[in-house]
Amino acid sequence: MTDFTATRAMFDLPSGVIYLDGNSLGPLPRHVAERVSHAITDEWGKLLITGWNKAGWMDLPARVGNRVGKLIGAPEGSVTMGDTLSIKVYQALASALELREERRVILSDTGNFPSDLYMADGLCRTLGAGYQLKTVAPEEVESALDDTIAVLMITEVDYRTGRKHDMARLIARAHEVGALTVWDLAHSAGAIPVNVAGTDTDFAVGCSYKYLNSGPGGPAFIYVAPRLAQQVRPALSGWLGHEAPFAFDLDYRPGAGVERMRVGTPPILQLAALDAALDVWEGVNIDDLRERSLQLQQAFLSIVEAGCSELALASPRNPDERGSQLSFRHEHGYAIIQALIAEGVIGDFRAPDILRFGFTPLYLSQHDVEKAAQTLCTIMAERRWDKAEFHHRAKVT
Ligand SMILES: *Cc1c(COP(=O)(O)O)cnc(C)c1O
Repeated sequence: MTDFTATRAMFDLPSGVIYLDGNSLGPLPRHVAERVSHAITDEWGKLLITGWNKAGWMDLPARVGNRVGKLIGAPEGSVTMGDTLSIKVYQALASALELREERRVILSDTGNFPSDLYMADGLCRTLGAGYQLKTVAPEEVESALDDTIAVLMITEVDYRTGRKHDMARLIARAHEVGALTVWDLAHSAGAIPVNVAGTDTDFAVGCSYKYLNSGPGGPAFIYVAPRLAQQVRPALSGWLGHEAPFAFDLDYRPGAGVERMRVGTPPILQLAALDAALDVWEGVNIDDLRERSLQLQQAFLSIVEAGCSELALASPRNPDERGSQLSFRHEHGYAIIQALIAEGVIGDFRAPDILRFGFTPLYLSQHDVEKAAQTLCTIMAERRWDKAEFHHRAKVT
């Protein structure tokens, strides 16, 4: 059994705060500052440029990629790190489209994160020649798969509602009609069990600053199935994805396997933070984490539903159909979240009316989530959210 008391002790949450927003920005594990400080002072400070060799900076994307890979069922050498998730979405899509040259349609759903859709749309415009992004309702994805679809691009867990797609089933169906799949695991990696190899995923991408706690702006990951990795052409053919970057050839030759998905100079300080943050996962069994997450969600849901009927559940009621978050709808959602934050319970708001709460067993206890739910009910019952200061919208919600 995973010892969640031990993992909790590894985090440095401010006292008086119950953090239900680790699905958006994971909190700081205690030892990360020291490791980043070491990378700054002892590596950058003392080794200067020799750090690329002596401190192993150049191999960090692959080494950390392997650690992330373990959390998503990816074999060694099939994941690399770098850039932001939006960039990785673009790369995966571009490569997948080229492998299905005779087709022109990317299929996605209206529950996808807008940036993924924007990147797909931008790529289609660049390619021209009839390329198009088609979006359908999440429930209609399976029936919209036919032999016109080149690539199915889906975010497994909906960022707003937490609704979870059946990844294995959609991949099997996509492959039946000859389509490739690109999975966005932003709300899956470190949140629920994922098995990219076992489900025969073609491409997967995700970010590290949510459930993997790498800090704001931490690098994204990309997985390419080993059966495809030697075959794909990287659309963003940067020098560090070259077979021999320091040969400085004038012609591009893709590097070995997933290494070709590297673009430019890796963010070493953010990778150092992520590498350290991943230590928290040593000894964590992801099935235990899932079980615990569902217990925490149920504890929160029971109190909210019993105590504040004004909030309508926006997540699937069936726990098997959701990720590691619960969402509710309310027309004053933004103000309610602000009032909650003022009382030390941090969740977030997603337009137009979603209150969102992430459940992260690494550092949340049953007591925390019960207290958070009770605070929410009090705020609702006493209309504490209805103050001018809580209605003012900040840049980031
Ligand atoms: C968080 C998130 C993103 C963010 O992309 P960045 O390029 O890292 O800002 C993209 N897609 C999904 C599905 C997300 O949840």
